[in-house]
Amino acid sequence: MSSAGSFSSYGEITQSEINSFLGSENTKRSNYPVYSTTPVAKKVKQIYEDRLRQFTSKGEYSKFNLPAFYDRARTDATDYIQLETYPVPDCRRPLFHDALKEAQGNWVLAKKGDSFGPSWTTHWFKVKFRVPRNSSIWKEANQILFNWDCGNEGMIFTEDGKAQVGLSGEERREWIIPENWTNDSKWHTIYIETSCNGMFGNADPNNNIQPPQNNRYFSLVSADLVVPNLPARALFVDFWIIGDSAREFRDESWQKHKAREVANQIMDAFDPNNPDETIEQCRQIARTYLGCHVDSPDVFKGDSVRDKVIAIGNCHIDTAWLWPYAETRRKIGRSWASQLDLIKRYPEYRFVASQAQQFKWLAQDYPDLFDRIKQEAKNGSFIPIGGSWVECDTNMPTGEALVRQFLLGQRFFLHHFGKKCRTFWLPDTFGYSAQIPQLCRGADLDRFLTQKLSWNNINNFPNTTFNWVSPDGTQVLTHMPPDNTYTAPAHLGDVARSLRTHKNLDITQTGLLVYGHGDGGGGPTDEMLEKLRRCRGLSDTVGELPRVKLGSSVDDFFDSIECSTDHGKNLVTWNGELYFEFHRGTYTSQSDTKKGNRLAEIMMHDLEFITTLASIQGAADYIYPKREIDDLWEDVCLNQFHDVLPGSSIEMVYEDVKKIYMHAMKTGEKLARDALKALDISVDLIGNNSEIVAINTMPWGRSEVVKVPTSNFKTIVASETFVCLQTTQSGLAKIQKFEAFRGKTMPCATVEEVEDGVFVMQNSRIRATIIGGTVTSLIDKQTDREIIASSLNDDGIETRGNQFVLFDDQPLNWQAWDTEVFSLNKRKNIPDGKVRITHNGPLKAAVEVEHKISDKSTIINTISLNAYIPPNEDDRQSELNIPDVSYLEFACEVDWHEECKFLKVEFPVDITCEYGTYESQFGLVRRPTHYNTSWDVAKFEVCTHKWSDLSEYNYGVSILNDCKYGFSIHGNVMRLSLLRSPKAPDANADMGTHSFRYAILPHKGQLNADVVRAAYNFNHPLDSYYIPRRTPAAEAADKLLKSIGFEGDKNLILSNIKRFEDDKDISRGELEVRYNGKSIIVRIYDSLGTKSKGFITLKYGLKIKKVWKCNLLEEDIGEIEETSIVYTCGNDGEVIKIPVEIRPFQVCTYRIELT
Ligand SMILES: [Zn+2]
Repeated sequence: MSSAGSFSSYGEITQSEINSFLGSENTKRSNYPVYSTTPVAKKVKQIYEDRLRQFTSKGEYSKFNLPAFYDRARTDATDYIQLETYPVPDCRRPLFHDALKEAQGNWVLAKKGDSFGPSWTTHWFKVKFRVPRNSSIWKEANQILFNWDCGNEGMIFTEDGKAQVGLSGEERREWIIPENWTNDSKWHTIYIETSCNGMFGNADPNNNIQPPQNNRYFSLVSADLVVPNLPARALFVDFWIIGDSAREFRDESWQKHKAREVANQIMDAFDPNNPDETIEQCRQIARTYLGCHVDSPDVFKGDSVRDKVIAIGNCHIDTAWLWPYAETRRKIGRSWASQLDLIKRYPEYRFVASQAQQFKWLAQDYPDLFDRIKQEAKNGSFIPIGGSWVECDTNMPTGEALVRQFLLGQRFFLHHFGKKCRTFWLPDTFGYSAQIPQLCRGADLDRFLTQKLSWNNINNFPNTTFNWVSPDGTQVLTHMPPDNTYTAPAHLGDVARSLRTHKNLDITQTGLLVYGHGDGGGGPTDEMLEKLRRCRGLSDTVGELPRVKLGSSVDDFFDSIECSTDHGKNLVTWNGELYFEFHRGTYTSQSDTKKGNRLAEIMMHDLEFITTLASIQGAADYIYPKREIDDLWEDVCLNQFHDVLPGSSIEMVYEDVKKIYMHAMKTGEKLARDALKALDISVDLIGNNSEIVAINTMPWGRSEVVKVPTSNFKTIVASETFVCLQTTQSGLAKIQKFEAFRGKTMPCATVEEVEDGVFVMQNSRIRATIIGGTVTSLIDKQTDREIIASSLNDDGIETRGNQFVLFDDQPLNWQAWDTEVFSLNKRKNIPDGKVRITHNGPLKAAVEVEHKISDKSTIINTISLNAYIPPNEDDRQSELNIPDVSYLEFACEVDWHEECKFLKVEFPVDITCEYGTYESQFGLVRRPTHYNTSWDVAKFEVCTHKWSDLSEYNYGVSILNDCKYGFSIHGNVMRLSLLRSPKAPDANADMGTHSFRYAILPHKGQLNADVVRAAYNFNHPLDSYYIPRRTPAAEAADKLLKSIGFEGDKNLILSNIKRFEDDKDISRGELEVRYNGKSIIVRIYDSLGTKSKGFITLKYGLKIKKVWKCNLLEEDIGEIEETSIVYTCGNDGEVIKIPVEIRPFQVCTYRIELT
């Protein structure tokens, strides 16, 4: 007997019939037969479960089962559909109107079966079609589809260039033809843009992180008109979810066994010879399990208290990865056009999209889509999220760069969508700076979402919903979707896991399900939305599955957590960085990009310093280059995308990145020149009466040995090309004449070969012994302390400082991303090189050493020491804060052609401490030097910024660097990561020449402010310029550059000076002007972790109106009381002192309104 027969009719089913079917009502005792008529077998579970696959699979029985009935009719006859194509020459990507102009007169006939390529080329198609009227199926169809499959990505446009839906060649092939075209018998034209790449670029289908295949062709498989069999397609999804219930529910749950039985009943009821009628019967049976409302959004109605899983659509579009930026621009159009189409058809659907940069590209390339998105944003369906410029890496960008990610991002969203975002959306990034909570809150983001930590390859992160706390105590409400993915296919299992694997169920019982195809874009499909309707129907009908809800936003989700946890007070806290136990190679891969990032960040700091000052008091006609500076920051932030800066993209991406950095540096240089010109400072020699100067953009004094570019200037010794430039504060540093150096003797650095191959390099502070390029001894003369720990290692080799080591680097997978703990087992010291003296005093001593890494690779290392120029007593008294340090510097030129090797340089130091300290955004992070626990082991390679330090109570050693980010300190070995050589996804990553610098800086006492400042100075070398000698203009320029400064606790760093975004003279009109005059933003942070005080100083005629403390978005928080501002008079005239008080590791921003 067919169980479907238990229903009296196949019309609308009633709840009592469902109840009866489920056995919840007792049947009447009198109907129970006295005699058994037929033996009934107990069904063998595994066989009846395995059988389910037959019904929907495309295997050997498909013609007897459901797949044979998804279409009612299909045609590709030329009577109804005709194709022409225009291959765009080269790898250009013209937009719709340009492409059509080019194509005019160049269209050629095309047909199914034709191939298109090679990889990365673009082909446009003109498609003419009319709907057949030759049968009742076509005439009576209430929906007709255009089905296109060329195996690659594409987009359908109407004749007037309106983007319709994206095509992917896999999950996205169909477009619903406008209703008024289906029965007018007329020819209609659409255009299709296809790009010869898949969702994951042109990756090897078997291993998509291998380098792309550049000669791929794509065959046109389908260009058909189709009448879909909608009930058959609906039954397919019904059966899928019921089948998943049978396979995936717990064995102990009755719902699992019931699902198997219901699915078997559906298969039994289906008759391929009577499909229409039996498909309807099958759907009726399905309703007994899924409920009656799965064909409409009504399924989500009802009491929301029991909603446990909030499902939110998203499509993670990597801004570049296995495809270049230019392709991303089209992926955005394709993906988001499809989402707008879904929003039209599924009222319950909510979609989030992040990254202001992507919205900006969309507005440029697809203005009509952008307008539609703005409308749907108003309706609450298409929800901008994230608040950042891109989903950036957060290991390597400086604190200031992260601030700019938010400043650019939030201002973009505010301008275009009328509101800021509340959630920092960062599902896919390789580690999370401890300062993110503080920076988020400063940018009005009180929620944070990520997922990547579930990829940890050593320890399982213990929380799902928690308060994440920065070192200064600021917290952000954090959720990591329990399904452990941001590209969930919205299967039943995804809904189940969204609660089952939640790790804080004692406190909060809801999870966010983030579904939709992603990484290469795409997003949710109608199939996913249909599945979710059924999942919800199932929960309300039979239970077992957590109740999934659509129609809520991410804000709603976080609101509900806040509500149920007493505003988060009951949630677990996690303090400090969220270290990602994976992808540790990304601190080093693609070292040119890392260097480009460091240089660009430094350039932007200096550029804003100079242009800000020039714009407040430079030449009257000087105009602050706001647009250009914004553009530069956008580019710098773009390249910090989480697959770009970390080095995990394909070669094509890095070709673009290189161009972007070169353009940025060139533009920055020009803008700086313009600003300097407004200050009468030139980079070119201005006749004989010029003076050489350098601009110190640091807010402290400097005294440094600098190579001068010309022999026109008198130096101390006729042959010497080095001078000492000194300044007691920011502004112009001038040549220090030692004859007049307040009676002191000439400082000196020397090097001599004391015995064969043994070189001693020294100044009055340190003495280094160099053998074969390694440092066998480094003595601090002040404390008479040996820094290098020389001992015999396990192989009987003497440990030395500056030892280059080549490690085998063959991670388990993910070459560009990973370096694995076992790579430390296979190491080879790079042999000693030949040393020759290249400079010998008085201000600098240097030797050059050439090392052979292998037959293919070499290092030329210049080891140098500058004369130690002590700050004199007067300087100390006036607290001029010239860092009192001396360090041994190493400048490397490496020709690098290795395979799967990792080059590092080691310094075994005579220091014992259980933790090492590393600079990070606006502060530092301490990490263990031991391997006590698996959490400690996991940190065998970590991220650093400009300095890394190992200190005991009264002595320490720091390693400075100018463009590196990978480091480790274990035991007493400090190890800077230099170069990697992964072969995927860029087969040529890091091959070629590289230059970089690092230094070893011993210091008395613990880690201190001099180290922090020395690292800043090391990264901001003093560049020489010229000014006219002793003219009023030169005087004025010097004063202006010194006019804003800081005095107070030395751990406080005045990190950035910039113009206020919403001053009248620089506003771009996108947001409201908030000050009619000129104002300056000053950012200060505590670099070492202590409550501190100081003053922002303004002098040389700067007058202030009001001073505001503001957030990172430059919104005023509160006015600094006028009575607390101190006005003093000294040698520099009136000095205005604005008091600053800062908590440990706090970042503070002030807006100073000038009169
Ligand atoms: Zn990603």
